[in-house]
Amino acid sequence: MLRRARSIGLALAVLLGFSLAPRQATARRAIVVLDAGHGGSNLGAAGRAPAALEKRLTLAITKEVARLLEDRADVDVVLTRRDDRFITLRERVRLANKAGGDLFLSIHLNASPDHLQQGFETWIVSPEALDVDARAMRWGDGPTRPGVSEELAAMLDDVERGAALPRSAALAARMQARLGELRGVTRGRGVMQGSQDVLLGLGMPGALVEVGFIDHATEGEELLDPAVRSKIASALAQAIIDWLGPRTL
Ligand SMILES: [Zn+2]
Repeated sequence: MLRRARSIGLALAVLLGFSLAPRQATARRAIVVLDAGHGGSNLGAAGRAPAALEKRLTLAITKEVARLLEDRADVDVVLTRRDDRFITLRERVRLANKAGGDLFLSIHLNASPDHLQQGFETWIVSPEALDVDARAMRWGDGPTRPGVSEELAAMLDDVERGAALPRSAALAARMQARLGELRGVTRGRGVMQGSQDVLLGLGMPGALVEVGFIDHATEGEELLDPAVRSKIASALAQAIIDWLGPRTL
């Protein structure tokens, strides 16, 4: 009987340990993966001025967000690219998973066919895209789980992705809130759900933020101003800090 009680106690301890794991995780440095959209031969969207290329502005903003976060003692930053190079979407996901990121943020600028749209929006993976996501996991881009059977790994992937979805939504909401404070809530286009390839297969919460329209007459001009971009970078960094919450090291 005693032996049985002990084994139940052990099982409970294992369960408790499992459920407490996320809280213990806050006692270490958070790993933030930042992804500057496009790069190299992939120019992204273009504005009116020759210098108004999405790949150039995403890199400038991303590096500034990284610098702001690296100043903190409780955050480590991983960048998917530091210069003007082409990198596939799958490589970005693979890099984030390999780094064991706590969150993934892909930074972009928008454009529209009529060049009249403006504002900012944040995308997360839709529940419908999770089927595709499961396929991405099977392609071998998912988190690596050494010493775990394939079946158990697939199950853990499912649990992890299910748990990540509301946390991704919370991250997107933080992005919209901080950008709203800076750029005006009326420019907020909301949190969108889709099947962005760069978010598929991630083993962590993730979002893709479109900070503004590069091809809009006024907004595009503003986004070319380094001072405006710095403020946007601060808003994104603050949103990440909000999302991470208080951390004790
Ligand atoms: Zn883009």
